[in-house]
Amino acid sequence: GEPADTGSASKPRQREPAAPVTPVVSYRNVKKSYGDLEVLHGIDLDIAAGEKIALIGPSGSGKTTLGRMLMTLEEPTSGIIEVEGEPLWQIERNGKLVRANEHHLHRMRSKIGMVFQHFNLFPHMRVLRNVTEAPRKVLGIGKEEAHDRAVEMLCKVGLEDKLDVYPSKLSGGQKQRVAIARALVMRPKIMVFDEVTSALDPELVGEVLSVIKEIAEEGEMAMMLITHEMDFARDVADRVIFGADGRIVETGPPQELFGQPKSDRLKSFLSRFV
Ligand code: ADP
Repeated sequence: GEPADTGSASKPRQREPAAPVTPVVSYRNVKKSYGDLEVLHGIDLDIAAGEKIALIGPSGSGKTTLGRMLMTLEEPTSGIIEVEGEPLWQIERNGKLVRANEHHLHRMRSKIGMVFQHFNLFPHMRVLRNVTEAPRKVLGIGKEEAHDRAVEMLCKVGLEDKLDVYPSKLSGGQKQRVAIARALVMRPKIMVFDEVTSALDPELVGEVLSVIKEIAEEGEMAMMLITHEMDFARDVADRVIFGADGRIVETGPPQELFGQPKSDRLKSFLSRFV
């Protein structure tokens, strides 16, 4: 056997391959149909822990559907989506995968955060309460801790002076920043940002994108950015995924994908942004 190891634990072990790391999210041959129309044709995609991916592509290509399935707002027609190695919709029972119950879905959902194009804030609650509500009701966190966490997140998005205001008194950019704080406070493993600036007046887009960029730079949380903002995708994403007609057409680091697009589909898509 091995001699007793007395202090070499921190030495890099060069001969052994790195232990396989479970992706935070894994789509395996995921298909989705609405009625007779198949809109995703077998998606395979792994997202590493902490990885920032941008999904780009023409409208109708299936980007939102991909994100909504991760949020369990839509169920795949076939295939498996895993979060931290566990299927979202299935649970193992006596060695077989059977349909998951609500309890399993609830636990899995707590790992995933989502921010939508329309902010969906609770209009009858002040900003602070919008952010404390889910930690208290869903995670069962005590009042003081929920308050402290919410204030921390609202500071992070630059809204520390709006805690006691109702959403109707906020600009669209501020509302979206509350929505981001509300998702962050749950400490998800991955956040899906679905076209979060599309409904905003152009002058409010920058403040929201810069908040997202700051969060991305903190690093630990994975992100799926569904976006039409190519400069933003280039700035923030570790990897860009170009989809069209329900398939992944091309994927790579931003400088490669934007700098040397290979497929005609991507070349023609990008030519619209110059
Ligand atoms: P993207 O986000 O890339 O614009 P979507 O995921 O929104 O694409 O849509 C992909 C395709 O699925 C489109 O053809 C769209 O019309 C269709 N689709 C999306 N949601 C539904 C739905 N609830 N019922 C029927 N068709 C839908």
